[in-house]
Amino acid sequence: MKTPIDQTGAGCKFCGSQHQKEFIAQERMFRLPGSFVYQECLSCGSLQIKEPPADLDQFYPDQYYSFSSLQRSPSWKNILKKIRMKLFLNAGIFAPSYGYWLGKVHRHFDQKIADVGCGNGQLLYELHASGYGSLAGFDPFIDEDLSLGSGIRLFKRSFDQAEGTFDLIMMHHSFEHMEYPDQILKACYEKLNPGGTLLIRCPVTDAQVWKDKREYWVQLDAPRHLIIPSVSGLGILGQKVGFSLEEVEFDSSDFQFWGTEAYEKELPLNPEQILPDYSKAELNQFKQKALRYNQEGKGDQACFYFTKPFRS
Ligand SMILES: [Zn+2]
Repeated sequence: MKTPIDQTGAGCKFCGSQHQKEFIAQERMFRLPGSFVYQECLSCGSLQIKEPPADLDQFYPDQYYSFSSLQRSPSWKNILKKIRMKLFLNAGIFAPSYGYWLGKVHRHFDQKIADVGCGNGQLLYELHASGYGSLAGFDPFIDEDLSLGSGIRLFKRSFDQAEGTFDLIMMHHSFEHMEYPDQILKACYEKLNPGGTLLIRCPVTDAQVWKDKREYWVQLDAPRHLIIPSVSGLGILGQKVGFSLEEVEFDSSDFQFWGTEAYEKELPLNPEQILPDYSKAELNQFKQKALRYNQEGKGDQACFYFTKPFRS
């Protein structure tokens, strides 16, 4: 169901265009009731929810994936992780599944790293196990401030309340849950050391799956995703804040296909229920298609590498 309307409101949060059209989306992950109005920018293609629901918390039930508990590994395994990371950084082999992007942002193991929207801190834990020594996570939705060991702390606060500055600030699928992209980018700019990198991984509307399947797109994720940029939209906003956009790397997976097909079949997003319906060959085809989409710039998520110039 689409309702094309020209908006005269505040405009696109990424490029500022007033030309937007509206459409209605449903919550599909848990099949919760409600209809949510989104605005699609007719200029840059970015999406934003028109108004986040007042009771947004109720759309994050306990089974929501970011609430899983931290998985610690035994110390012998952490020694292997350190060796593996050195091999990856020095020889380009054994890229960690959680951090292929590290090859582009690694400078030294003492670089100060912030993970914005860190959840339980699993990624920071893995980085710590792999040799990084100065790690901080920020997330207003965790229960309390927490130390996961020396050199690795989690803070229950939004990033604009963070103290200190960083060499690398990262957001891994947290950016799209924030209402005001300009504010978070400005906070990142202020807290990033000159020459440092801001890494944002998020869904993007360049996705062929979005163009083909519209409201069934699994990463539309209404109403939790408050914003979804296009590559050009986030590029425009980042540069407006002062960043230089160095590279955009698509990193979508087979999830975009089987997740979206589940929503077309009106199924909740339960991999244990969905995946057995596919043969190994079919899932392999999805993986191959995802790789091709990434190469062609039409995968459904991407990694943005911004840097803060030494002099702005
Ligand atoms: Zn726009």
